[in-house]
Amino acid sequence: MNPKFVQCEFCKTEIPTGSCKLATYKTEIDGKEYIFCCVQCAQRYKQKKKRK
Ligand SMILES: [Zn+2]
Repeated sequence: MNPKFVQCEFCKTEIPTGSCKLATYKTEIDGKEYIFCCVQCAQRYKQKKKRK
C-alpha cells in the first residue's frame, strides 16, 4: 500500500494524490502537464521559465 506522491515542480513539496485532488494545482506549460502544490507555485514556475 504505497500512497502516491507527486512533487511540486517549483518548491518540491510532496503532495499526496488520491486523497484530495483539490490539494494540487495542475497546469499545462508548452503542452506538458505540471503539478504544483498551489497556484502561486505554478505562476512562479512559469515566470522562472520565461526569464532566461
Ligand atoms: Zn509548491
